[in-house]
Amino acid sequence: MTVATLTKDAIRALAVRASQDAPVVSLYLDVDGRRFLRPRDYEVHLDSLARSALDRHGPVVEADVARIVGHVKAGIDRSRTRGLALFSCEAAGLWEIVELPVPVRNQVVANSSPSIRQLEAVVDNNERFGVLLADKQRARMFVFELGQLVDKSEVFDQLPRHEDDRGDWNKDHVRDHSAELAHHHLKRAAQVAFSVFQSQGFDHLIVGAPEEICNELERVLHSYLKDRIAARISVPVNATDAVICEAALAVEAEVERAKEMALVTRLRDAVGSGNGGVAGLDKVLAALVERRVETLLVSDGYESPGWRCHACRHLAVLGPSCPVCATPMHQVDDVVEEAVEEGLGQSCRVEVVVGNADLDVLGRIGALLRF
Ligand SMILES: [Zn+2]
Repeated sequence: MTVATLTKDAIRALAVRASQDAPVVSLYLDVDGRRFLRPRDYEVHLDSLARSALDRHGPVVEADVARIVGHVKAGIDRSRTRGLALFSCEAAGLWEIVELPVPVRNQVVANSSPSIRQLEAVVDNNERFGVLLADKQRARMFVFELGQLVDKSEVFDQLPRHEDDRGDWNKDHVRDHSAELAHHHLKRAAQVAFSVFQSQGFDHLIVGAPEEICNELERVLHSYLKDRIAARISVPVNATDAVICEAALAVEAEVERAKEMALVTRLRDAVGSGNGGVAGLDKVLAALVERRVETLLVSDGYESPGWRCHACRHLAVLGPSCPVCATPMHQVDDVVEEAVEEGLGQSCRVEVVVGNADLDVLGRIGALLRF
């Protein structure tokens, strides 16, 4: 699976690939070339993940772990890949490799179904960002998605160089004329930005221009684009694609954190007023079982062992007997992961929240309720 085909539907399809016979091994590996220069720098982490899976689960995961390790050690093209997600269950004929343009958190899970929470987080963040850079004679427009360049276009308007040659023009005249040219250039830049918006679409716009033209540039933008301005950056118009991409990714992270903060604030208010929200693993699992969850909020990296009933799908922190149907439940490594899968299966909105202390105080998991 490539990023292009990594949609919510594809993740949901992967999430339901359960196996009753042997566990599915899910392994996430950070292979970010900015931090791991040589393959052996990330292979050290791969080996330690493999060891911990074997220690915890024994021979039943051996073949799948070996297949994953073998695939990674055969070499990864890291020109566009910063994170890997691998899912293996030979017994169920499952083998899925996802190469991601963003880093992931190292993790290995062996469970009855693929552990898709980190993939979900990546797709969650999957919004398109337009970047409009301009100076007085150049304008460039880029569209990025998941750290990858989707589209770029350029406008160049040569400024008159020999203004003094125009002897019959007085100075004011020349100044008016070049102001008019500059205005015309910015209008062209705005038109290009809007036509890119119409053809490519993007959720947020980032503007970079010298201070003396930035306000005017924003003034001439189409109102659809004005409404989408997420940030102003000081990146020169002739910056490399890599520099522009880094700046766009930084804004993207800020936008995502702000969105998460707004949701956590809603959750905190709902929990505080005792109306419309619950927090903490116990209460969230109960709300999921009752199908009352509209939005599930989970701290990135939160894991907790628990129980799942295969008969009625009940989820619980404590076992072993199902409180609903009295069947013996199955112990799971990570009931938080089960909760996320359950939420996705119920078409809840699932937000994986990164580094939000308010959610951590609330118990690292919470739910906004439908009723
Ligand atoms: Zn049950």
